Amino acid sequence: MKYVLVTGGVVSGLGKGVTASSIGVLLKACGLRVTSIKIDPYLNTDAGTMSPFEHGEVFVLDDGGEVDLDLGNYERFLDTTLTRDNNITTGKIYQSVLDKELGKTVQVVPHITDAIQEWIERAAMIPVDGQEGPADVCVIELGGTIGDIESMPFIEALGQFSYRVGAGNFCLIHVSLVPVLNVVGEQKTKPTQHSVRGLRGLGLTPNILACRSAKALGENVKGKLSQFCHVPVENIVTLYDVPNIWHIPLLLRDQKAHEAILKGLNLMGVARNPELEEWTARTKVYDQLCDPVRIAMVGKYTGLSDSYLSVLKALLHASVACRRKLIVDWVPASDLEDITRKESPEAYEAAWNSLKCADRVLVPGGFGDRGVQGKILAAKYARENNVPFLGICLGMQIAVIEFARSVLGLHDANSTEFDPETKNPCVIFMPEVSKTHMGGTMRLGSRRTYFMNTDCKSAKLYGNARFVDERHRHRYEVNPEVVPELEKAGLRFVGRDESGQRMEIVELPDHPYFIGVQFHPEFKSRPGKPSGLFLGLIAASREQSDGVSCYGSKAITNGMSNGPSVMKSCINGNASKFLNGSCNAIPMNGNGVHC
Ligand code: GLN
Repeated sequence: MKYVLVTGGVVSGLGKGVTASSIGVLLKACGLRVTSIKIDPYLNTDAGTMSPFEHGEVFVLDDGGEVDLDLGNYERFLDTTLTRDNNITTGKIYQSVLDKELGKTVQVVPHITDAIQEWIERAAMIPVDGQEGPADVCVIELGGTIGDIESMPFIEALGQFSYRVGAGNFCLIHVSLVPVLNVVGEQKTKPTQHSVRGLRGLGLTPNILACRSAKALGENVKGKLSQFCHVPVENIVTLYDVPNIWHIPLLLRDQKAHEAILKGLNLMGVARNPELEEWTARTKVYDQLCDPVRIAMVGKYTGLSDSYLSVLKALLHASVACRRKLIVDWVPASDLEDITRKESPEAYEAAWNSLKCADRVLVPGGFGDRGVQGKILAAKYARENNVPFLGICLGMQIAVIEFARSVLGLHDANSTEFDPETKNPCVIFMPEVSKTHMGGTMRLGSRRTYFMNTDCKSAKLYGNARFVDERHRHRYEVNPEVVPELEKAGLRFVGRDESGQRMEIVELPDHPYFIGVQFHPEFKSRPGKPSGLFLGLIAASREQSDGVSCYGSKAITNGMSNGPSVMKSCINGNASKFLNGSCNAIPMNGNGVHC
């Protein structure tokens, strides 16, 4: 196993995660099998309890791991399926050491540092790309910035680790900042020099410097960095500003970062020249999109787009496949509510304006009752006005509540999450384990959904699959007792779990596109392999009542190849062509699809 460690210096937010995943893409394009580990030096054991407000979304893995959103970047860029062990936190390490009850004085060195090294070696061996046996290279990203107190045990462990695995098996890439001072317009190297000195002082030697800067570094600047940081000029790359992050692997390739890495890892003879044709074509398409599709995202954390990162990425993957330029209008759910009309009429008007101008409405997942009424109003608006709608998790639950209230006339229909005393509980707490068992009541990770029949949009969007495996993160579910009544009134529960008791997918057959899902399809969407449900949302239109008819028989169903046909099928298309059956190989996400 070879290791690439990515550290960050000077400031946070340099895009270390994207850089590390892009390095993975580049190495994969060289024919290597790549896995990844993200180290988060915070004390929480996982991201499950952290507020998306503060920390961005909680990414959910197949195995139910609730992890840092960077793991989403790795899964998307490298098309892998990671495990909870691929995310190391200080909390996890300390817990594992303390659980062992060593019976002696427990110390940071050697017990914590040994545990970190053991964890890295163990996690690196887990196959994540569907093939057997361990990958060739493991990219490790160390969160935070060099010098942070909390990352010290990790730095010490990684220093020991690099020495132990040996020079030809370990390559350190330090991501740093080269600021430009406005007055003189000069690229300043001092911050990078300082941070490399800090790194060396802690026992780590950088092989490659990846410098963030607005423009490419001048040769004299590179020379200076090389001289003062003791890194060869050819091992200094610039991560200059690019139109979108899909450019980063290409940027690294153009500057021959793969050669520097492969040399550092003694892999020159093994790897091939990077093959990135498909990636390049998709990136170009992304750059040139101009036909807009406007999505109203009706959510709670609308101030911080990272709170819904995977949903945004899934929308993007589908938009690029449909040749549409994605425009997301953030609609704070509570601004749609009557109470806002009185308290802040301008916000109310702005929210309704955004909703009414949107081509599609998406209500993502969420917890807590803030904005629930606004989300219900958004679902009602989409249902009554034939606006394509996708409700995810809470978004599905509120769509069902709305239908029960408006169509069945059950005015107090609600979820027991928001009103435990409701007379008409349409959404209830249905733990997989005992109701009284404390903790662990969240239904987390991959679960199977069976289609009740193939005569529904979602089954077609999944390539006429019999069942799909998608990721979950919820406690509440549609009350199976109200299902017959809801179905009689026209709502169809077309996807259920193996017991038939848990409702997974709901559709309105007479609507152009009205789908709610209890799971989170966004977590398995990939560039070039969009999730079918997002693709359906983007490709649907108010006019077309069966916008997905072309998907059924023609969608790729066996493994959903990600080959060049994907690009060809889209290259001349536009959304209406897409809908009218000219598509012949719609690139959908095959993960989880079974026929
Ligand atoms: N709060 C809801 C539940 O627990 C929905 C969760 C979600 O949207 N992820 O079931």
